Formats: sequence, C-alpha cells, structure tokens
Amino acid sequence: MRCDHCATDVPDGVFCTRCGAHQGTAAEVGDPKTRENRYAAHPGEHVVQPSVFTTLFPHLGQQKIHEFRWAFAAGLAGILILYVAGLITAAILVATFLVPVLYLIYLYEAQVYRDEPAIVLGFTIGGGALIGLVLALIERGLSNPYAGVGNPLRNAGIGAGMLLFIGILIPIVQEALKPLPALLLPNRGDFPETVDGLVFGIAAGLGFSVAESLVGFSSVITSLPAHMAPGNWIYDLTTLAIFQPLLQGSATGIVVAAIWRYRRGRFARRELGGLGTAVVAHIAFALGTLLLKDSQVNALFVLVWQATVVGAVLIYVRYLLHHSLLEEAAHMGFAETVCPNCHMHIVASGFCPNCGMALTAAPTSVKRARKPHTGAAPKAQGRKT
Ligand SMILES: [Zn+2]
Ligand SMILES: [Zn+2]
Repeated sequence: MRCDHCATDVPDGVFCTRCGAHQGTAAEVGDPKTRENRYAAHPGEHVVQPSVFTTLFPHLGQQKIHEFRWAFAAGLAGILILYVAGLITAAILVATFLVPVLYLIYLYEAQVYRDEPAIVLGFTIGGGALIGLVLALIERGLSNPYAGVGNPLRNAGIGAGMLLFIGILIPIVQEALKPLPALLLPNRGDFPETVDGLVFGIAAGLGFSVAESLVGFSSVITSLPAHMAPGNWIYDLTTLAIFQPLLQGSATGIVVAAIWRYRRGRFARRELGGLGTAVVAHIAFALGTLLLKDSQVNALFVLVWQATVVGAVLIYVRYLLHHSLLEEAAHMGFAETVCPNCHMHIVASGFCPNCGMALTAAPTSVKRARKPHTGAAPKAQGRKT
C-alpha cells in the first residue's frame, strides 16, 4: 500500500513503517502524522503522560518495564521499613542509590552502550559523579544548604543572597556542567540517535545526583546515630529517593538530547524549548523547595511541588523524544525483525507496522538481530511469537 503521509510503498499495517504515521484516521483523534496519542517509544501510552519508566527507560519492552516498576516499588518499601525502624542513615544511603542503580541495570539490560560498556558508563555516570563531587564540595564551601535538614526546629529565614545563590545560580551552573561528560564521550559518533543522547544525559544526571546527595548529607550520615527516632525524615527521604534523581536525570537528558539534535542539524524551537525547560524547571524545583521550607508550610506541600515540576519535565522529555523518533527513524531499510513492544514478527523499516513503535528505540540485541529483507514488494506480516 502507499502511505498517505510520506507517499512510500510500504507493507500493509496500521502504521507506516517508514514515517510512523497512523494509517486510517477514522477512530483516531489528532494528527495521524504526529500521532501524539501513540508515544513512539511505547505506543500504548499518550505522549502527555508523566510516566517515569517509559520516559527515562525508553528501550525497555512492556515486560521489563513492569519488572523495573516492581524493583523501584520494592526499593521504596525498603526505605520505608528502614525509616520506621529508625535506621535513618541506612535509609538515606538506599534512597541515594535506588534510581541510579536501577538505571545501571537498565543500561546493561538494553545494551545501550553496545560494545563499549566501560567507556560509556565511565563518561556518563562516572563523569557525572565526578562533576557532582567537585561542584557539591564547592557549593558546600560557599553555603550549607542542608544544615538543619530533617530538623523541624531549625532557624527559619534565608537571606535574599542565599536565595539567589541556591535557588537560581546553582541550578544554572549545574545544568551547564552536567551534560559535559556525555558531550566528551570519545566514541559518541557511534551513537548518532537522539534516544542515545537522551539516555547518556540521564545517566550523567543520575551520577551527578548520587555525588551531590552524598556530599550534601555527608555530615548527617556521619553524625547521626545508626539508630534513632524516625522524626520528619520521611519527607527528605522521599525527595532524595524519587524527585531529586528524577529531576537531575531528566533535565540533563533533555539538554544532551537537544545537543544531539543540534549535531544532526535539527535544532529548532522544540530543542531550544528543551534547554529552557530544563533550566527553568531546575530553578523552580530548587527555589520553590527553598521558599516552601522557609515558610514553614506542611512538608507535604514541598513534595507536591517537587512532583509537579518533575511531572512537567518528564512530559517534555517524552515530547522531545517522540518527535525525534518520528523524524529520525525513516531511513533504516526493510528488515525482518521482532517488535520489542508487540512481539510480532515484522518486516519493517523504522516503525513497527502493527503497533507503531519506533524501532530505533529497540534494545541493541533486537537491532542486531535484524535480517535485511530481500524482496521487491515487502508483504504484510503478522505471526505472533
Ligand atoms: Zn509514511
Ligand atoms: Zn509492534
């Protein structure tokens, strides 16, 4: 059949395998070409949905996503148990490492680094951690933002200078420096896709987050007794385990993805908006947290604010990734493969004709198993494995 949107002869299917457009628009809402109700990395979801795992772990299929969700939930339950038992130091350490360790497992699972695990991991997670360490020590020398964390009786009142420094200057400096490790990656030419840049950026941001949290809480970790009354620590633990790493990871993911797009000659409004979103969201997160804590409102509001900012950033990541995948995936040549999302045997170019998944976001093992399809007119498919 001939695609209505890119005018290429493609196999029959619900989606065009070349441009990803949704064929036959009767029951669908929106533009079939941009198909924002079918997120390109996980076609079962809408683009505007603040889902953590299908956004920051784009290479995983449905089954693996569930495993990661369960692992994350188990980690959070573990932190809660440690908190209730009064083992605050242990809870802080688990919270600091939970998301970054899951990400490390993801990178291994999807083989995003292909044949160079040491170089890629070293330059992303390792480089991020190194920059985080240096920057956090400098920041700590200039101020001590974590003094009094978890202590409800701490002195209220922050000066305007401190507000500008912690709430605005530090976020801007961090967003400028966190992408460096991914940009200095020596073999970055082997990873031309924007989805790769996004994942490397997230990895660097998470490495940074670990170092920043460890330095920030180092005095607490070393000075608290191993066992104590739980107190108000649950709020700081929630920020530390969930919102802090998600913010640091997704903001840097956006910045590096935008730079990857620039390298491909595709830097436009959407990418510029991404850089703006990363910086503004980071400032909103830091400044909002500081002001809310300072005004002595219920600590729950701080978490609601952080969740709102992180949710907005996640949606921007999806929006950027969705359109990058649609624009970049139209050139892969027909090949026999198995769709990692719907598990159908397909003859496909850039997109699964059955579910519309962008195959550039498939795990490396699936990409390597592609067999070039030799045949004048690729035929329809549909054998379920
Ligand atoms: Zn098409
Ligand atoms: Zn599929």
